[in-house]
Amino acid sequence: MRRREFLTQTGLGLAASSAVATAVGAANGTSAAPRATPAANGAAPTATSPGGAAPVASAASPCLATSPDSIGPLPLVRARPDRIIAITVCTRPFRAHGPRIEAERLGRKTIVHNYGHGGTGWSLSWGSSTLALRHVLATREREIAVIGCGALGLTSALLAQRAGLKVRIYAKDRPPDVRSTFATGNWSPNSRFCTAEGATPEVADRWEEMARISFRTYQFMLGLPGDPIEWRDGYTVPDDEERATPPPAHGGEPEYPDLEKRIRDLGPRMQILEAGTHPFPTPVVGRYSNLIFNISAYTHLLIADFLAAGGAIETREFEKPGDISKLREKTIVNATGYGARALFGDESITPVRGQIVRLIPQPEVTYGLTYRDLYMLSRRDALILQTQAAGDFGSADITPDPAAAERTVQVLADLNTRIAANQAGTRPAPP
Ligand SMILES: Cc1cc2nc3c(=O)[nH]c(=O)nc-3n(C[C@H](O)[C@H](O)[C@H](O)COP(=O)(O)OP(=O)(O)OC[C@H]3O[C@@H](n4cnc5c(N)ncnc54)[C@H](O)[C@@H]3O)c2cc1C
Repeated sequence: MRRREFLTQTGLGLAASSAVATAVGAANGTSAAPRATPAANGAAPTATSPGGAAPVASAASPCLATSPDSIGPLPLVRARPDRIIAITVCTRPFRAHGPRIEAERLGRKTIVHNYGHGGTGWSLSWGSSTLALRHVLATREREIAVIGCGALGLTSALLAQRAGLKVRIYAKDRPPDVRSTFATGNWSPNSRFCTAEGATPEVADRWEEMARISFRTYQFMLGLPGDPIEWRDGYTVPDDEERATPPPAHGGEPEYPDLEKRIRDLGPRMQILEAGTHPFPTPVVGRYSNLIFNISAYTHLLIADFLAAGGAIETREFEKPGDISKLREKTIVNATGYGARALFGDESITPVRGQIVRLIPQPEVTYGLTYRDLYMLSRRDALILQTQAAGDFGSADITPDPAAAERTVQVLADLNTRIAANQAGTRPAPP
């Protein structure tokens, strides 16, 4: 369930703007997962009135934490500008019809393209690279090259190894100096995947196949040392001001399709937490559970596995397709992400700028938040804060904006002040 649906279904979304609706998705999170429970769909009463609609009043209640579904006081993020450890910006490689996954002949070589994943590159990587591998195997070559060492290059390389092939990665940069490093790090399979217009039945079917393969793959990467992949809870917190003064819409974004309905059977659904069962300063909140990619540990794992299986990584930059002809391998996976725009002159790739603020991690903070246009994700390697700005769609500017970063931190600080005040009235759960 997207944030707008949540706000509408709980009666809190009277003036919710599309910017609010896409708060998490914009930050690569809404599409993450939250889907409506029967209760959230109105089958059961929510926090409030007999009709199930929440009151518009903002009176909060102390948290009683009386059932496994309720939550007690939460440790708060130390949301201060001096806790910022990095501000990173990168561009999502967006294509209106979704990623390019197809084989192309280039002289005596076969290039298997696997790029253009928008805001879904980590989420869909295993599925997308599985599709790319089918083209690779069709060439019957036993030694292949992969260009690119980001999410798509690494998963392409690992899957090819598992299929028994010998693989060499060529890349201009390798982690942590690749764009994949600067992602939010959660399951967001439908975050700027394609436009509504570009979502033909074929594109949607392909998306579903990739999403299902990836989702399943990730369930078998849980519980590993360093927790590269894990499930964590997050809370969608409606806000009074949001109803009165919706945040400005992010101009220039196309309409996106609702592909997630095709995978509603996967994973947990959003729960509505009623007043008195949570510590937030609003009558109701939504709780979702989402897959988190702890990108530092996860990338480390992917590279270690690739090298342990006999893979090699060579630093090399390709300026034009002709440079690829000089490689000794005859089958080459092109996983250059945004780099494909220049390398293959693919102007169908639109950059979508995204800035991330990293705060010093706090192990005691295990939850995420969506509040107004802020998306917060607690990873092991950083507390990630993200907001999306007007003009990001189509912008290739990767200059960090420290003033915007401080404003983002302030949004969280303001919410924390309200949570803290509410928690002051919190009673501990009964034994
Ligand atoms: C702010 C932000 C947040 C995001 N959050 C999420 C998220 O939470 N979940 C999610 O699933 N996705 C997220 N994404 C999207 C995701 O990060 C991208 O889809 C993904 O990183 C693309 O990976 P890639 O491997 O295709 O490209 P890259 O990571 O850019 O890797 C490309 C590789 O190719 C190499 N290369 C490029 N050009 C050349 C060349 N000419 N010669 C040699 N080598 C070359 C590079 O050096 C690099 O090794 C986010 C994106 C942004 C911007």
